[in-house]
Amino acid sequence: MEDSAVMTSPLRKPFIAGNWKMHLTLAESLALAKEVRSGCGQNGPDVALCVPFTAITVVAGAVQGSSVLVGGQDLHWEAQGAFTGEVSARQLADAGCRTVVIGHSERRRCFGETDETVNKKLKAALGAGLVPIVCVGETLDEREAQKTYRVIETQVRGAFAGFSPAELGTVVVAYEPVWAIGTGKTAAPAQAQDSHTFIRKLVARAIDEKLAAGMRILYGGSVKADNIDSLMAEPDLDGALVGGESLKAANFVRIIQFKTQAGMERKA
Ligand code: PEP
Repeated sequence: MEDSAVMTSPLRKPFIAGNWKMHLTLAESLALAKEVRSGCGQNGPDVALCVPFTAITVVAGAVQGSSVLVGGQDLHWEAQGAFTGEVSARQLADAGCRTVVIGHSERRRCFGETDETVNKKLKAALGAGLVPIVCVGETLDEREAQKTYRVIETQVRGAFAGFSPAELGTVVVAYEPVWAIGTGKTAAPAQAQDSHTFIRKLVARAIDEKLAAGMRILYGGSVKADNIDSLMAEPDLDGALVGGESLKAANFVRIIQFKTQAGMERKA
């Protein structure tokens, strides 16, 4: 177990991001975005909706003028070119995105994403001024084989290779144990905290202490309205990446309105 040695930074404003995956028509996207917008208060956490490429402009229009940000779920590392079916960082930003998910486990598992492509995508996202949400996390087999730390370390080092601490200042990490994504099995808060502490200490050791202290680390994996409060009570959890429950307006709004003493203090 990693012991908790957290330096809470004022930079670590809580951040709740929804990942809509490959769901919703434009009309459904518009309706959901409007509900999320009206459910977000003025002083809450940062909120982002990471939507399918087709819905970016519609959702960006629906949340314009509010604190809700729009994000992509993936990008290509090249700026432009003959890459049929791909979308660049510049195109995401131009369409209204402020953030982008990189290296989601579904992309690693189904589409051959590697730490090397994550690294290249991170460079492209930062170059276009997007806030990258870099996903890492172990499979069940890896956890059971006591390889959790090793897997996370390889993914974090691979994603951040070649960057200076200054370049990584806006980067958000999402710790998403693969066995908890879409399965209804949430990591116990202490289990999540342990991995988050490991990631923060790893970034401190391998890259920079100040960067690590200010880096937002989100938890993802079956986050729901009824478990967000206990997760956010952990000192190294700075928010959540939410899949299935981000498609249900009332539940997602309740997640945004998480209630814990520790979480509330960190909103200052
Ligand atoms: C995700 O898509 O990143 C995710 C965590 O999904 P879910 O919340 O459905 O487990």
